[in-house]
Amino acid sequence: MPKKIGIFGGTFNPVHNGHLALANYLCEYCGLDELWFMVTPCNPFKKNDVLLPDYARLEMVSAAVSGYEKFRASDFEFNLPKPSYTVDTLAALRAAYPDYEFVLIIGADNYVAFDKWRNPDEIMRHHSIIVYGRPGYDIDKSLLPSNVTSPDTPLIEISSTFIRQSVSDGLDVRYFVHPEVWKLIVSHGYYL
Ligand code: ATP
Repeated sequence: MPKKIGIFGGTFNPVHNGHLALANYLCEYCGLDELWFMVTPCNPFKKNDVLLPDYARLEMVSAAVSGYEKFRASDFEFNLPKPSYTVDTLAALRAAYPDYEFVLIIGADNYVAFDKWRNPDEIMRHHSIIVYGRPGYDIDKSLLPSNVTSPDTPLIEISSTFIRQSVSDGLDVRYFVHPEVWKLIVSHGYYL
């Protein structure tokens, strides 16, 4: 059996306990051998004042995932042409790691618009997909194709926007992120 790797993409600006708890659940309850946090590099053509540099966000993810052997922080997309489309990232992953099976992890909010993604059929042909719940987005499980599953994951309502806003307001929201992530936010003065 090939190793089953979940691919969880995001800007992770910063990674927070909502991301981590969801990913932890998917590993333990949904049969993933590993889960890779695929840090999305900043798009050089998009101006974004609040997005921390790629390696700063990667460093926070690396700090958060160390110690749990099923998690990996991945910079794989940093070296792909930008912007990175999921279909291309997955093709590059298949080429780089032919022995692994990659499972795409997306939120219900993204799944409802999946047919508008670039080459959704190609993604579906090569990969199974795990759709996790997002508040306000109901998934009718009876309508899902056979390679798409939607486990009952706990909803933990934290967002990176909330963390950034709180830090910028001078609030101590350390328990919403991994302690090592909080240390990095404070020591670098991120989001102030
Ligand atoms: P922002 O507030 O900056 O938009 P975010 O918290 O949504 O960020 P992303 O880095 O965009 O974080 O998250 C990556 C993926 O994780 C997204 O597809 C998003 O839907 C999902 N996600 C974000 N917060 C949670 C949460 N609390 N529980 C489960 N999934 C989440």
